[in-house]
Amino acid sequence: MLVVMKAQATPEDIQAVCDHIAQMGFRAHPLPGAQRTAIGITGNQGEVERGNLEALSGVAEVIRVSKPYKLASRDVKEEDTVIRFAGTDATIGGPELAMIAGPCSIESREQAFAIAEQVAASGAQFFRGGAFKPRTSPYAFQGLGLEGLQIMAEIRTRFGLRIVTEAIDNESLEMAAEWADVIQIGARNMQNFSLLKKAGRQRKPVLLKRGLSATLEEFLMSAEYVMSEGNYDVILCERGVRTFADHSRNTLDLSIIPAVKRLSHLPIIVDPSHATGKRNSILPMARAAIASGADGIIVEVHNHPDQALSDGPQSIYPDQFARMMDELEQIAPVVERKLPRGIRIEAAAK
Ligand code: PEP
Ligand code: MN
Repeated sequence: MLVVMKAQATPEDIQAVCDHIAQMGFRAHPLPGAQRTAIGITGNQGEVERGNLEALSGVAEVIRVSKPYKLASRDVKEEDTVIRFAGTDATIGGPELAMIAGPCSIESREQAFAIAEQVAASGAQFFRGGAFKPRTSPYAFQGLGLEGLQIMAEIRTRFGLRIVTEAIDNESLEMAAEWADVIQIGARNMQNFSLLKKAGRQRKPVLLKRGLSATLEEFLMSAEYVMSEGNYDVILCERGVRTFADHSRNTLDLSIIPAVKRLSHLPIIVDPSHATGKRNSILPMARAAIASGADGIIVEVHNHPDQALSDGPQSIYPDQFARMMDELEQIAPVVERKLPRGIRIEAAAK
């Protein structure tokens, strides 16, 4: 259910409606929009008694949301969600594209700094790097853990880049939430519902990757898990799904972008690295992603991919990333977007 407030409703009116919903034993989710605030109701089984709600001051109407995902739906919030990073000009989901680049794994301070310096010079605003790696083999490199997070925190201070890193369980989620700016939930964990709920209870934006065989509805339901706990800053990420194709690691499903844009207000970015697994496919797929309306790109970049401890074959060289930035900068205006170069940090946030 959704309570739509009148444009002239006061903050007190909105609070009174939220209190009323809480008294009914449900959860209220105020969602401010450009014209008016809507208040999502979750926790109810079936219809909520709308008469009492409709009588409250400032309420325009109470409507039923028929989709299984509520807070993630455009029916509940018409305007695109724009995720902001306090004290910086970085955004995800607004008119400016978000570029997230860095190695699959943080391997050493030298490796991470060398790559960060080059992607920052090309104008990325976000640095990605895994400290906790969900590997297919238990014998493969599992990540540096806390040390990896600390290296990325130093990169944040040195280059201003905001940090994106994956959490794979409760413990790493708490650590990532403390050290990073965006918590990535990987494809293999897209339906780890207890992890999603925990991600919803912390305050950092969540980058949710599409599961290897997840439908659009399952994907949005996973976003709903995070949002239902009160964290509305969810970024969806298409990273390829599993098909019969054997020319690439996965199949990049760009057709999900317009479908997500129609059904949801959440931003969606594309990961051409995991989608293709092949260095030479990454630039063409990044171009296609932006042309398809994606809000940004997350890409693996390595200075010595032949020596990488994970995902070397799908990591591009820093000079290829520089070229990607130049090309996407040209494509962006065609789809009424802009590619920002670099991140501005307010003095107080340094
Ligand atoms: C990654 O980003 O390095 C990663 C493991 O991604 P995914 O969960 O999409 O496989
Ligand atoms: Mn990887």
